[in-house]
Amino acid sequence: MWITLLSHTQVHYANEVVSSFIGPHVWTRCEQARVAAAGNSAVRGHAKRTAWRAWSEGFDGASHARALPITYPRLVPIRLSSALRRSGAITLHRRTMKRLLVYLWTAPTTLVGLWLAPLALITGGGVQRVEGVIEIHGGIVRWLLRHCTLLKGGASAMTLGHVVLGQDRTVLELTREHERVHVRQAERWGPLFLPAYLLASLIALLRGKNAYFDNAFEREAYRRAP
Ligand SMILES: [Zn+2]
Repeated sequence: MWITLLSHTQVHYANEVVSSFIGPHVWTRCEQARVAAAGNSAVRGHAKRTAWRAWSEGFDGASHARALPITYPRLVPIRLSSALRRSGAITLHRRTMKRLLVYLWTAPTTLVGLWLAPLALITGGGVQRVEGVIEIHGGIVRWLLRHCTLLKGGASAMTLGHVVLGQDRTVLELTREHERVHVRQAERWGPLFLPAYLLASLIALLRGKNAYFDNAFEREAYRRAP
C-alpha cells in the first residue's frame, strides 16, 4: 500500500516538473517569456517545497498521497494562467498575432508601393515609419504623384496598404489623418483593396459623378477625416 501511494505521488510530482519545463520553452517565443518563466519557477519551487515537506515529515502515506494529487493538478493551471493574465502576456500575444495576420492580409497591396522605397531614396527622397505605416516621399514618388495619377494636377498623397506615398514630408503630415482611413480600408479589403477602389471609381463615373470625390472609399475618408 505504501509503495503504491509513493509511486502515485511521484508520478504526479514528475508530471508537474516536466510540464513546468515545457511551459517556458513554449512561452519563450512570446514577448512576455520572462514573466512566464518566473511563473514556472514559482511552480517548480512550490513542487519542491511540498515534496520536501512530505519526505521530511516521514511521508506517512495516505494524507500526503491524497494532498499532492489534488494540490498539483489544480494549483498549476491556476497559478500559470493567472500569472500570465496578470502580466497581459496572453492578451498581448493574441493582439500581436492578430496584427501580424492583418499585415499579411494587406501585404499584396503594400508590396505595390513598397518597391518605391529604394527608388525614392536613390532619387533624393525619404522613407519614414509612422505608427506602423511606411511613408515614402520626394524623389521619384513626387514625380509619379504629379504625373501618373488620374487626378488633374496630380495627387498630393496616396495609400497602398501599409505604404503611404506623399509629395513631401509636409504633405504627409497634412494628409495623415485622411490617408490613415485608407490604411484601415486596405486592412479590411486586403488584396481586394485596389480592384475595389477602381471599381468604386467606375461605378461613380457610370452614374455620371466624379470618379474621385464620389468614390465610396474617398467619401468615407473625407467623412472621417475632412
Ligand atoms: Zn483619399
